[in-house]
Amino acid sequence: MKFRTKAIHLTPPGRSTGALVPAIYLSTTFAQPAPGQWGEFDYSRSGNPTRKCFEDAIAELESGVGGLAFSSGMAAIHCVTMLLECGDHIVTGYDVYGGTYRLFHKIINRSGIKVTMVPTNDLDAVEAAFTPRTRLLWIETPGNPLLSITDIAACAEIAHRHNAILGVDNTFATPVLTRPLELGADIVMHSATKYIGGHTDVLGGVLVVRDSELFKRLYFIQNATGAVMAPLEAYLCHRGLKTLDLRVREQSRTAHQIADFFHNHPRIRKVYYPGLADHPGHEIAARQMSGGFGAIVSLELDGDAGLVQRFAKSTQIFQLAVSLGAVESLIEQPATMSHASYDAAFRAKHGIRDELIRLSIGLEDPEDLIADLEQALDRATKGG
Ligand code: PLP
Repeated sequence: MKFRTKAIHLTPPGRSTGALVPAIYLSTTFAQPAPGQWGEFDYSRSGNPTRKCFEDAIAELESGVGGLAFSSGMAAIHCVTMLLECGDHIVTGYDVYGGTYRLFHKIINRSGIKVTMVPTNDLDAVEAAFTPRTRLLWIETPGNPLLSITDIAACAEIAHRHNAILGVDNTFATPVLTRPLELGADIVMHSATKYIGGHTDVLGGVLVVRDSELFKRLYFIQNATGAVMAPLEAYLCHRGLKTLDLRVREQSRTAHQIADFFHNHPRIRKVYYPGLADHPGHEIAARQMSGGFGAIVSLELDGDAGLVQRFAKSTQIFQLAVSLGAVESLIEQPATMSHASYDAAFRAKHGIRDELIRLSIGLEDPEDLIADLEQALDRATKGG
């Protein structure tokens, strides 16, 4: 079956009722046949039937052996870092989500875990950053907010040669466009808050794993630390999977149109979009993404921070808000919003300038979106 068909028919009708959608099991505990004898479920932190429907479905779509759903994307990433011990080392990218940067530099560093950031689109830099204690290579592709493209298969080869694992935050690409486990990654992670939920009404995270031993270790950590996804959220994420393919392809198509429109626009200094032929990662993106290049476009305005502030406040359809991946288009300034947790000097050095704007393209009509951005540019330029 093709992805779109699979996504709709992954969960068979309920055994006793014939229901086509999963039930929302709110029960926190489950009756046992006898003391010391366990059924499939015993306590909702350890496993819940609604959560399992979502976990099994996303695992199938990401070509993994199992899925683990969390209360947020950050909880999912934190679970991965808990595989590491004091003295271990992580290699990660420059343009990862600001919350990931904060977790790596301000929380897990307290446990003696070291982190080195490199441009992961430069494979020599990735290789050079490895030490004998490197246990995890953590990448995002397309990157956030600069949309850099990292070669997943090449990173998997480097990580494995150094006895480390490769984790890929696949939030931006989704399994519709890229399936990292098929390219050799060990763990794929999503902020399900984004495209999987897709409607700005659910907070969640998920890990999908390629190998059953690693799955067991992560499950143990998840159950021991407890940041699991609640049943209603699991229901909403499961529902989101059914339209994921349509939404992501359509949103990516519109994003490409917007990137093309603003490429060489007199008021835009630079457009960051991996679908553009002059994007440095375009060839790799064309190889490891299929069906589109994603629905995030970043623009660097030709002007100062004041112009950016005015622009971001002048759109009428694009809402000024963090987050991404839903049906509504959003606009944000990474320097003051999604990437405010980065050190200012680090941001400046690595191109996350104050003039940078990140757009999350929704499902609205492309012509309306382009017209909205144009009128906002006009108003911002006139000082309004
Ligand atoms: N990874 C990426 C790429 C994100 O954009 C986000 C949130 O914006 C996260 C991880 C964290 O996910 P959550 O907000 O669900 O904790």
